[in-house]
Amino acid sequence: MKRLAILGSTGSIGQSALAVAAAHPDRLQVVALVAGENASLLADQASQFRPTVIGMASDAALADLTSRIGITSGTMLLPSGPDGLVAAATHPDVDVVLCATSGSAGLEAALAAIDAGKTLALANKEVMVMAGELVVERARRRGVSILPVDSEHNAIHQCLHGRDRSEVRRMILTASGGPFRRLDRAALKRVTPEDALRHPTWRMGKKVTIDSATLMNKGLEVIEAYWLFGVDVSAIDVVIHPQSVVHSMVELADGSVIAQLGVADMRLPIQYAFSYPERWDAPVRPLDLTSLGALEFEPPDRERFPCLGLAYEALRHGRAWPIVLNAANELAVDAFLGGRLSFCHIPVVIERALAVADRETATPLTLADVRAADAWARAFSAETIGTLRSS
Ligand code: MG
Repeated sequence: MKRLAILGSTGSIGQSALAVAAAHPDRLQVVALVAGENASLLADQASQFRPTVIGMASDAALADLTSRIGITSGTMLLPSGPDGLVAAATHPDVDVVLCATSGSAGLEAALAAIDAGKTLALANKEVMVMAGELVVERARRRGVSILPVDSEHNAIHQCLHGRDRSEVRRMILTASGGPFRRLDRAALKRVTPEDALRHPTWRMGKKVTIDSATLMNKGLEVIEAYWLFGVDVSAIDVVIHPQSVVHSMVELADGSVIAQLGVADMRLPIQYAFSYPERWDAPVRPLDLTSLGALEFEPPDRERFPCLGLAYEALRHGRAWPIVLNAANELAVDAFLGGRLSFCHIPVVIERALAVADRETATPLTLADVRAADAWARAFSAETIGTLRSS
């Protein structure tokens, strides 16, 4: 029996994770559930899974949750906010922590889980983008496994299984290309949040769906792959594959390419992170290749989608750039979703922050340095968004 803490249980990944837990009650036990603001859904999840502890991001959401669950439910409430996340991630009865909070909120909890010796199933790529070096180093020292849930990294993890790393020449991340793959520059200037939220193949949260439309999602995944698999930047490639059937590939020393294929359903990578190194039956329809017809592959267009190149640049440059890239992007995406920024201005916000980042931030050696660079980039980007709006 593996005992789970699910951080971000009401989000898209969290809900899929609970569907996996429900399909394997003999193998998976839910011990801790923490959500952001959706108290109503967390109350439903708590009554179905009977976890030991539950928590919410804010005091208001926690009060809402308290009013929904009975005092006699037998489930203990965690403090609201980051303390609750850390308490869930380090709970003595937990073996595996699924970190599926959105944005940068999961960083402290992920590090706490590692320090407590828990296996970390990582769905939150921002954790690796912001603090890859810290996270990987601590996991190595503590002997903790980090199992990637992101479908691309999960695919690479599967392709690498049992293989000597010296045999690997290249990792190829696939990208759907998002809903705007065929739009020209003029059309891109006019796209709305509603257009961007219509993802062709994956159903995901809003932030990652917009990141898919700008290709920043793939850029963040390149940085994530760099830290997870310890490969050189030049050995990580991106290819557009609109069908989202090949989830990623590994090219070996002899030129052979190993790919992982499957239906686009996050329950599969989540389950593999939970079952690893075993394989279990999955509650997912099998892949029917004959009904798919063709599988297409094409290079990404870095001119129309500059976010991908910015992510490579940030990774190559190092220092605080990946943190600044991530924070500026979060702010810009939020402004775009709120109708305060145009789609084409998202990379502009990031570029302006990177241009002055070396002067304004220190090379991050500690979590406090990471948070300081993150805070600076957020304040700077908020200002940039204001000027772009009024220009
Ligand atoms: Mg992904």
